[in-house]
Amino acid sequence: MLQTNEKLIIITAPSGAGKTSITRYLLHKYPELSFSVSACTRQPRKDEEDGVDYYFISLDDFTEKIQHNDFLEWEMVYEGKYYGTLKSELDRIWNNKQIPVLDIDVKGAIHVQQQFTDNCLSIFIEPPSIEVLKKRLESRGTEGLESLQNRVNKASYEISFKHHFNKIIVNDDLTKACDEAEKIILAFIGKAD
Ligand code: 5GP
Repeated sequence: MLQTNEKLIIITAPSGAGKTSITRYLLHKYPELSFSVSACTRQPRKDEEDGVDYYFISLDDFTEKIQHNDFLEWEMVYEGKYYGTLKSELDRIWNNKQIPVLDIDVKGAIHVQQQFTDNCLSIFIEPPSIEVLKKRLESRGTEGLESLQNRVNKASYEISFKHHFNKIIVNDDLTKACDEAEKIILAFIGKAD
């Protein structure tokens, strides 16, 4: 059961904008924050662990969870690849007296925001340009050519939604972007000095 008076943080961005690095930095530093592990149907990458990075599940399991209304939101983020935030994951984190941090795509972020208005902080991480984003994705080396092109194509569309979010951080320098995100989050969780 969702407890809607609880706080929630959403970090959203096009793939490759740096949101995962920023999210990791914050989670490492603040134990009151906890990563909301999404369910997804893509294959794990080499360094990824089930239950830590994602709950890697089959399409059948994912469909069953949709039918059971287990998701707060879900999206086909890339062709044939489904990702979703489980209500049970947020409850698990709130029950631990922590604040969930959701690293989710732009559409999913908008859906979550619509359900949590007062107690939700949403941060959009913007890449300095599409060219920089493409270079970052290429150097990350996790995507094949087609997946990379899909992600770049989707990025411009996603950037057009940036004003739907509470705060926008342009990530042209990761350290500065982390500092900025940290200040915003400390104010939200009531730890700012
Ligand atoms: P990746 O395949 O690179 O791990 O993630 C692809 C995209 O899916 C990222 O933008 C990530 O933020 C997003 N994503 C991860 N989990 C969820 C989720 O639960 N819901 C939605 N809507 N997007 C998600």
